[in-house]
Amino acid sequence: MIALSLAEIAEVVGGQTHDIPDPSVQVTGPVIRDSREAVPGSLFAAFAGERVDGHDYAAAVVEAGAVAVLGTRPVGVPAIVVDDVQTALGALARHVVRRLGATLVALTGSAGKTSTKDLIAQVLRSKAPTVFTPGSLNNEIGLPLTALSATEETRFLVLEMGARGIGHISYLTGLTPPKVGLVLNVGSAHIGEFGGREQIAQAKGELVEALPSEAEGGTAVLNADDPYVRAMASRTKAKVIFFGESGEADVRAENVRLTDTGQPSFRLHTPSGASDVTMRLYGEHHVSNALAAAAVAHELGMSADEIAVALSEAGSLSRWRMEVTERPDGVTIVNDAYNANPESMRAALRALAAMGKGRRTWAVLGKMAELGDEALAEHDAVGRLAVRLNVSKLVAVGGREAAWLQLGAYNEGSWGEESVHVSDAQAAVDLLRSELRPGDVVLVKASRSVGLESVAQALIESG
Ligand code: ATP
Ligand code: MG
Repeated sequence: MIALSLAEIAEVVGGQTHDIPDPSVQVTGPVIRDSREAVPGSLFAAFAGERVDGHDYAAAVVEAGAVAVLGTRPVGVPAIVVDDVQTALGALARHVVRRLGATLVALTGSAGKTSTKDLIAQVLRSKAPTVFTPGSLNNEIGLPLTALSATEETRFLVLEMGARGIGHISYLTGLTPPKVGLVLNVGSAHIGEFGGREQIAQAKGELVEALPSEAEGGTAVLNADDPYVRAMASRTKAKVIFFGESGEADVRAENVRLTDTGQPSFRLHTPSGASDVTMRLYGEHHVSNALAAAAVAHELGMSADEIAVALSEAGSLSRWRMEVTERPDGVTIVNDAYNANPESMRAALRALAAMGKGRRTWAVLGKMAELGDEALAEHDAVGRLAVRLNVSKLVAVGGREAAWLQLGAYNEGSWGEESVHVSDAQAAVDLLRSELRPGDVVLVKASRSVGLESVAQALIESG
């Protein structure tokens, strides 16, 4: 964080100082909410959760070097006391980003936020110091904490913004007003909570409504391939640039193909030139994510060549997304258990087929959640695709959605022994442990709630 005195922080958050002998002492950062991360110079945000109350750790964090506690009651060590810690963090973040020399980039969407945020960060940091959301900390607490981790040196601040309802993104953009706002897609994630796709589009579009005008340097980066996102162009005063497969997009890919190892390769076109990209990430859904990152980087002054080099070097920074592990015995495990939707299921299966040429391939798949009325048809279609891609074995894990996966495979290719339906993760592990042979490639993927990463982990460990 940029250095701020306790007196200034107290004023910014409207808090009372307690047990502070010298209010001119400075917080140099980081601002933390986990007491175990306390280091000299830090400020500890004490949240009172259901099971754990941060205030109980006040003495320990100060012992570890923290300058003060930001909490809702005096704790016997230096503290700034406020009514609500989340609101205080937000106010502090707003204050700090105004003083930064950094350009703020924010992104939202239904799927691919973290993957794309990681790509943007890796491209931008090849140019200048960049701070970005760690993992998926994209809510009203994670976002200010990330913003507060920026320093005077930071040139780009890349922030993932999540929304579970109308007004959530507006709240976040109010704390950290972005100059560049990217919307990836409007899918079905959390569709139940939102009430429908129109509502999701309404909520995600709040990002482009918050941007400054084109004259003030605002840019909206929109996905030309998603009609809901394309339509957001009319909701912003900012300059609009489009990325996507469509020929009219400003930033697009040509000659998209998967290499023999399942990695996408394409020719990147930006308004300032073209250059070839071969990604280290697996799965063609990353082409769209890469184009989004390229569009942002182009807007921030990078050439097509610079962007292509950085995209080709970018690896995954977040776990369980097409994470490839080679076992010593020659079995390859592809862990994509972080989440699943129909589009990324298809992309992952195609990557498996490309990686598994001449090898035996296993698709260990579980349910795709939140599909509503489409659930049966979508699971059936994935089962059929596994057959068409010549996947060797389908292991469908879980309840009726798994049965639908298996049924699709049966109907498409009269699959009998090639597909197995098991009730849970442990059964899948038991089966695979006895069946896997050197050279096999195993894809593990399902929605977050299924927790199939335990299967991938067990298989990696049993190699
Ligand atoms: P969360 O809401 O959990 O933060 P997210 O939007 O950050 O999710 P990622 O973590 O990047 O998304 O990816 C989650 C899953 O979505 C991945 O495992 C992958 O299967 C899939 N995915 C990634 N990019 C795309 C994309 N462009 N389109 C569709 N699915 C994608
Ligand atoms: Mg995320």
